[in-house]
Amino acid sequence: MGSVYDERPWLGLYEGDLPAEIEPRHANLVELFAETVREHADEIALTYFDGRLTFAELDELSNGLACHLVESGVAQGDRIAVYLQNVPQFAIAVLAGWKAGAIVVPLNPMYRTHELTKILGDARPAAVISSEQGWHEVVGGVAQALEIGTAITTSELDLQTRHDQRLFARTERRPAAGCADLLAVARAHAGECPPAVSPAASDVALLVYTSGTSGVPKGATNTHGNVVFNAEGTALRLTDDTPGGIFALAPLFHITGLVVQFAAALAAGRQLDLAYRFEPGVVLDALAEHRPAFMVGPSTAYMALMNHPEVTPEHFASLRMVHSGGAPLPSAVVEAFRERFGLYIRNGYGLTETTATATSVPLGAEAPVDAASGTLAVGVPTYNTVLRVVDENGADLPVGEIGEIVIEGPMVVPSYWNKPEETEAAIRDGRLHTGDVGFMDEQGWFYVVDRKKDMINASGFKVWPREVEDVLYGHPAVREAAVVGVPDAYRGETVKAFISLSHGSTATGEELVEHCRKQLAAYKYPRSVEVLDELPKTATGKILRRQLREEARAGE
Ligand code: AMP
Repeated sequence: MGSVYDERPWLGLYEGDLPAEIEPRHANLVELFAETVREHADEIALTYFDGRLTFAELDELSNGLACHLVESGVAQGDRIAVYLQNVPQFAIAVLAGWKAGAIVVPLNPMYRTHELTKILGDARPAAVISSEQGWHEVVGGVAQALEIGTAITTSELDLQTRHDQRLFARTERRPAAGCADLLAVARAHAGECPPAVSPAASDVALLVYTSGTSGVPKGATNTHGNVVFNAEGTALRLTDDTPGGIFALAPLFHITGLVVQFAAALAAGRQLDLAYRFEPGVVLDALAEHRPAFMVGPSTAYMALMNHPEVTPEHFASLRMVHSGGAPLPSAVVEAFRERFGLYIRNGYGLTETTATATSVPLGAEAPVDAASGTLAVGVPTYNTVLRVVDENGADLPVGEIGEIVIEGPMVVPSYWNKPEETEAAIRDGRLHTGDVGFMDEQGWFYVVDRKKDMINASGFKVWPREVEDVLYGHPAVREAAVVGVPDAYRGETVKAFISLSHGSTATGEELVEHCRKQLAAYKYPRSVEVLDELPKTATGKILRRQLREEARAGE
């Protein structure tokens, strides 16, 4: 007999909104892009400071680079790794990879030798495409050690004439010996097309390495079908009420950047605005200049923008829809953003393994806040998708009960690259066991309470850091908060908080302990609050709670 999840109570929230089920319009990303080029050839595809590329130019440059890759021996199913910030060459490289029938491996440009050696040693790419600077600093050494056959570099100053001094003060063009120049080889093949490929929906399009915020990196095999599905799903939300482009707040190497920004912009035929990397002042200037309609990024990016000393409502005036995903979004941030800028931030939840989005807030609705815990809902399952909450044996739990969230839908990756055991542990019968802990309410809204491993056990009382963090975020002086468990002689573990302060605030740790003590059960409030200038984060803006926990434990 089906459980409450099989009944999909959330479908009621879709009424009068988008369809609950969609059919993908394309089998693969090569065909999806080709159709967009036919329909939008002379429209702007990408902006980058004062640089611009139309869809036709993006098509021609990616054809040229694909010809070079094929000539260099890259064959269908080979991997090509890309180590770049948010620059147009990233888009050219990804499209060229797909047109050559290859699998694209995006790399975080903050990775150093240790991480690159692990990831590239697993992915074994036939070609690597890197910034010149990255090549000289780290990629070159790793590529040579691993004997990667084809190396292509590019200067991140190319394709723009006005360089933002806040980002590029010390950057210079410095060609790398033995490497082809990306734009030179692409232009050398102007007017040529690579041999036609038509990947199956089940062929891998992206190999995205993820370890969440812990553990060994594993490559999630996002297929063409996975990516097309979520890109087209996002594009459907960009209706005529949302005219304008997409601002790339998230990095392109992250699944959100690649799918909800880049592939969604291709599916919708919309302009994508790039700003090199997330630097709040630069992002605010770019928003004012390019006037996008849609923006997506982690909640921490919204907090940073909101706290920038120069921010004004005018910076956000063109935006019609803003999405947050990838990290917990405190309801206090949603309310503050609405009050100051008149914009409602839509929460969304997903993982690299769900090709970014697995839940979203239906267009006509607003995510409720759970009265008992103060947690903001992450949304309801998107098109064709079912979420369930299960116990340790994998059995469905009733409404309101907390357990592990399991996801099944057309965006769930089939496997981890070369890792049958990890695949078996997490992805069984098309269901992804997320390691996230949460519950569903009567209407079908889902709430992510925490990560399984972040739970704090104080004398047998379970403390979910999120709940304590939400209370901290409710204090006007708190900009960012992370709560961890530290060993305690009496309770086994006790609660400690790290925070950073809002611009101009001066609250002390003691005041914040008192603020929490007033609002939480005695076993939940932090016994100490440490104030830091900035909390450590992953490059995609997730607060590194695990690092803080380790530091706190080392300091005990
Ligand atoms: P990643 O694979 O880097 O996208 O990280 C996925 C993880 O981010 C999930 O397993 C969640 O723990 C967390 N996450 C993503 N979206 C949300 C959200 N809206 N609220 C809370 N946590 C989230």
